[in-house]
Amino acid sequence: MLNWIKRQLDKLDSPTLDWVQVEVTTHCNGLCIYCPHTFMHNGWTNRHMPIELFNEFVPFLKHTDLVYLQGWGEPLLNPHFFEMVRICKGQGKRVGFTTNGMLLTDDTIKRLVDLQLDIVAVSLAGTTATTHNQIRKGTDLDLVISNLERLGTIKAEKNSQAPAVHLAYLMLQSNFHELKEILPLARRVEAKQVVASNLALIVDPNLADEALFHDIEGVDDYRNTLDKIRENASRENIIFDYHGPNLDADSLRCRENVQRACVITVEGEVVPCVFTNPALSSHHIFQGESLPLRSMSFGNIRNESLTHIWNKQEYAAFRELFDPETTKKPERIRQAMPQCCVKCYKRLGI
Ligand code: SF4
Ligand code: SF4
Repeated sequence: MLNWIKRQLDKLDSPTLDWVQVEVTTHCNGLCIYCPHTFMHNGWTNRHMPIELFNEFVPFLKHTDLVYLQGWGEPLLNPHFFEMVRICKGQGKRVGFTTNGMLLTDDTIKRLVDLQLDIVAVSLAGTTATTHNQIRKGTDLDLVISNLERLGTIKAEKNSQAPAVHLAYLMLQSNFHELKEILPLARRVEAKQVVASNLALIVDPNLADEALFHDIEGVDDYRNTLDKIRENASRENIIFDYHGPNLDADSLRCRENVQRACVITVEGEVVPCVFTNPALSSHHIFQGESLPLRSMSFGNIRNESLTHIWNKQEYAAFRELFDPETTKKPERIRQAMPQCCVKCYKRLGI
């Protein structure tokens, strides 16, 4: 009876979110040099989200537009991945995921097209195999591109526009010069969107110098190049998006959409972003300091509905800190902000 009442109250109180990100696995076949999965290899817990746990989230589907099946891992490794897509698509949701592109075989591509998956985003860290393969170890750019070309062919054979291809380019000082070739590559694989992101979480101290924002003198040149690429992209109807690359020390805004989106981890924890995932138990480098990675969970969908968790007072108070309309003074916001956000590059405009 109590559960029935809770379910009815949830129906009344459910928010409408832009998306929910679900970490369907923490297994990965890649060894990218900047990824916590690689850096924390010995202490890393590999898990697939069981379909039973995913099903706990299903009643919430009607309150979100998009489900993004992504966390710290390669989603295609979860044996229930296609079932998860099928469930979400069955409820009329848009569904996307990011992949390293290595497992996009013909069979996988056909299943994704048949399911009418909406977005497949592929991660890159260079536009030549030499650069990409050195950074995204365990992956091979030539194979990734040929898989995406197969995707284009199979979509044409099946007379399908879906899934749309997006490219996610991680910008480092050592691979930035190759970004100028991203538009020809995007054209080749028929990508509709390119997102160039920064090294927002630095787990390996040896990589700190690779972050664009640490090259203070170069920042203007980076921005000019990025602006030019965006201009050229828009002429070709490709969306090119980036943030930064300089830091805004006074910013109190988070680049993640914490107001209208959340992440469910592989264990069912509801967290505001992937950086507060309890799976990350190591240290990170922030402005020259080595600091413990602090996790933050507002509840677990094993025990409580997502609506109930979203509506908790502490979660609402957290979101209010990032509300653009807040009337709170910056000093008050800074005082109330959890340390994981205070010491986070995403809060500094990148
Ligand atoms: S493919 Fe993704 S999850 Fe896997 S190691 Fe690379 S960045 Fe990390
Ligand atoms: S500021 Fe950083 S840690 Fe805080 S919610 Fe945003 S991305 Fe997550």
